[in-house]
Amino acid sequence: MNSQPERPTMDIVVCIKQVPDTEELPHIRVNRETNTLVRESAKGIINPFDENAIEEALRLRDAKGGRVTVISMGPPQAEEALRKALAMGADQAVLISDSSLAGSDTLATSYTLAMGIKKIGSFSLLILGKQAIDGDTAQVGPGLAEWLRIPQITYARKIEINGNKIRAERALEDAFEKVESTLPCLVTVTKEINIPRYPSLKGLLSAKKKEVLVWSADDLTLDRKRIGLEGSPTWVIKIFTPEAPPKGEVLAGEMPEVADRLIEKLREREVF
Ligand SMILES: Cc1cc2nc3c(=O)[nH]c(=O)nc-3n(C[C@H](O)[C@H](O)[C@H](O)COP(=O)(O)OP(=O)(O)OC[C@H]3O[C@@H](n4cnc5c(N)ncnc54)[C@H](O)[C@@H]3O)c2cc1C
Repeated sequence: MNSQPERPTMDIVVCIKQVPDTEELPHIRVNRETNTLVRESAKGIINPFDENAIEEALRLRDAKGGRVTVISMGPPQAEEALRKALAMGADQAVLISDSSLAGSDTLATSYTLAMGIKKIGSFSLLILGKQAIDGDTAQVGPGLAEWLRIPQITYARKIEINGNKIRAERALEDAFEKVESTLPCLVTVTKEINIPRYPSLKGLLSAKKKEVLVWSADDLTLDRKRIGLEGSPTWVIKIFTPEAPPKGEVLAGEMPEVADRLIEKLREREVF
């Protein structure tokens, strides 16, 4: 027999990012000197796609047994997002937080998360949201899979686990694709995959008592040159709010008088 042994349970790691609540958009400020978001200016929420990632992990764990660990790299307030994940039902939470990680781009972020995940230990599945609603690059998942040297399936709208195999449907622009991989594997998920649960009152109360492990850069085995600003080849040159286009003018009235006025206006602007 040369078939792979069945994995009895699913140990799943979910990467979650705390992002500014876009419903508070008018209050969000940008630091014009550093071209970075003033994160304190907005309430933090779990990146919406990451709630789908948590839900999928909980669904698989509930069906097959195992553990769900949520991990985030971010400032100390990212603990709130991890606590919500614990309240939804995650078993363990890890926050990687250290001032030396500030300024990390997607390369440094995926590297640091990879080192955190190595410290957590073995896993069958790694689930992420398809993208973060603030950075919006969708690069952290693919980067992470590369650092960990595992297969990746992006934009999954459905996943099924069978023994040592994962089957997924990938949402493409005008079609979907069915793919299969062996475990361990990294998957990024879309909103279509499920409807995230609300934390129950019992979940909220028990999450308050659970420990969120906080790891600094010193707690991880990492190359200092690959983290923070030094490990980030991407530089934001400028960040700005696009100017709203001038309001259009509605020419009311009857034809052909309206058409004549339109031609007159176009001539004034030297369109022809
Ligand atoms: C020069 C530079 C400096 C930056 N400095 C900072 C900074 O100081 N602070 C800051 O918050 N951001 C900073 N950023 C942005 C930060 O690098 C990105 O937000 C981050 O790398 C994730 O990229 P993204 O938001 O595009 O995520 P995506 O790649 O779109 O996210 C995909 C998925 O990856 C996972 N994920 C993404 N980020 C994290 C995370 N941090 N922890 C756990 N899971 C995650 C989530 O599951 C998410 O759904 C900086 C970016 C640049 C270019």
